[in-house]
Amino acid sequence: MTESNFYSRCQQNFSNSNPFLNLPNGRSYSYADLHHQSGRIANYLTQLGIRKGDRVIVQVEKSPQNLFWYFACMRAGFIYIPLNTAYLEHEIEYFIANASPSFALCDPSRRAIFENHARCKIGTLDGEGNFLDDNALADSFGHADFETGSAEDTDYGDFEDTFFENEACDASDIAVILYTSGTTGNPKGAMITHGNLLANAATLSTAWGWQSNDVLLHALPTFHIHGLFVATHLVVFNGSEMNFMTKFDPEQVVNWLPKSSVYMGVPTNYVRLLAHEGLNGDICANMRLFTSGSAPLLAQTFQDFEQRTGQTIVERYGMTETGMNTSNPLSGKRKPGTVGPALAGVETKICDDSGQQVSDGQAGTLYVKGANVFKGYWQMPDKTAEEFTEDGFFKTGDIASLDEDGYISIIGRDKDMIISGGLNVYPKEIESILDRLNGVTESAVIGVPHADFGEAVVAVIVRAPYLTKQGQLTETQIITEMKATIAGFKVPKQVHFVDSLPRNTMGKVQKNILRETYTS
Ligand code: AMP
Repeated sequence: MTESNFYSRCQQNFSNSNPFLNLPNGRSYSYADLHHQSGRIANYLTQLGIRKGDRVIVQVEKSPQNLFWYFACMRAGFIYIPLNTAYLEHEIEYFIANASPSFALCDPSRRAIFENHARCKIGTLDGEGNFLDDNALADSFGHADFETGSAEDTDYGDFEDTFFENEACDASDIAVILYTSGTTGNPKGAMITHGNLLANAATLSTAWGWQSNDVLLHALPTFHIHGLFVATHLVVFNGSEMNFMTKFDPEQVVNWLPKSSVYMGVPTNYVRLLAHEGLNGDICANMRLFTSGSAPLLAQTFQDFEQRTGQTIVERYGMTETGMNTSNPLSGKRKPGTVGPALAGVETKICDDSGQQVSDGQAGTLYVKGANVFKGYWQMPDKTAEEFTEDGFFKTGDIASLDEDGYISIIGRDKDMIISGGLNVYPKEIESILDRLNGVTESAVIGVPHADFGEAVVAVIVRAPYLTKQGQLTETQIITEMKATIAGFKVPKQVHFVDSLPRNTMGKVQKNILRETYTS
């Protein structure tokens, strides 16, 4: 077996004395910090009886300590399951039931929710990186040891506590489960293996010419593939450094760009940066690479950014299940409105509904295959089988076309999905909650173009006829109700009321008509 533990392979490339992560408040962490703190956490979890293949579910604010926990799980062969911090009890309950975790780490404000649903040990980690646990083992380490600080003020205590021998992992061992929702049914846990992570980190490092002295400006969430895999992994895989912002803030990005060489963002980030008057070419003098992904980047944003900064954004395309599949080139033409050619080691083909490959220039569903493609959906073999072809291609559900230079354009989705601010919203999930509201007969949820978020969530609702006008639900009531039930990014920005939904002869709601009607 080739040793494929992602962390062990990264370890070959980093030197303990090198800087790993800098915070805006001046605190810095070295690779020694990453190694010792993750070792200590791995020891702690192992002593709780957690074993290779067990799940650790995590819903915490972004912090350096969050990453130490992530790499601790990786080192010990535990399966790490990050949850979007916006998820509320209704959503968390499902993930816990589906994943049956052996340990849950949450923000202190969520402890009661996790206690309601998780039958496992629970620890809390706040946004400042303070860890608390109510069991005795944590005390034997001393809470203070988890309150890590800069390289200078971290007390590692007894070396034995921080020494941890990484678990040997096969390329097919699961490292992370990332939940993605579906157009129908419940969210699915995409099983991402150590082999997937290695393949993608190696491919992207080469494609983007990663240098060990690169400094990444990290302003993405760490519960999503973009911030966790693409951004953090490229840094750790290459033993390089990152400037770490716990939240995207255009002002801070502008301040940090002169001290960074790479920036990765979702299109909304670029739109917001362009709205900041401090953005100009001078502050980007050290920058060698800007990348965009997770949602379509408008050609206009690409051009505006180039005009303001002299930098051309490299748009790439990927998804939770596959990691990155395509990228515009580092050298060579970066074509706005395209996501570039397939990355090395990734096979792509564009097929019609019967699975036949279409000719160049024609639209069809994009299929991908390669070491980057996930192992399947957690405990859903049927769903997994449905999404793969017999010859091992994964059906992305994205509609694409290929141009004469081999560049792919993503021109739509055959899955009913909205991308708002880089985060995916599945209408089916919102519709089933709306339909359960007293006074709602039926609903349709659509995405409409939005200058800031790319797309905005809009609900179109048929109200129950038996209610008098005064007794009927209002837009405010519906939005308030939704805010209490689901993560904020999924809550409709607007609600429209109609007498009936437009349907085709098969009875299917014609969302294209609704989109046309409400786009303005
Ligand atoms: P996620 O799994 O959250 O990363 O979302 C993946 C989905 O985001 C893909 O299936 C695409 O629909 C969309 N996506 C990601 N990158 C791009 C891009 N550069 N252009 C258009 N859509 C994208």
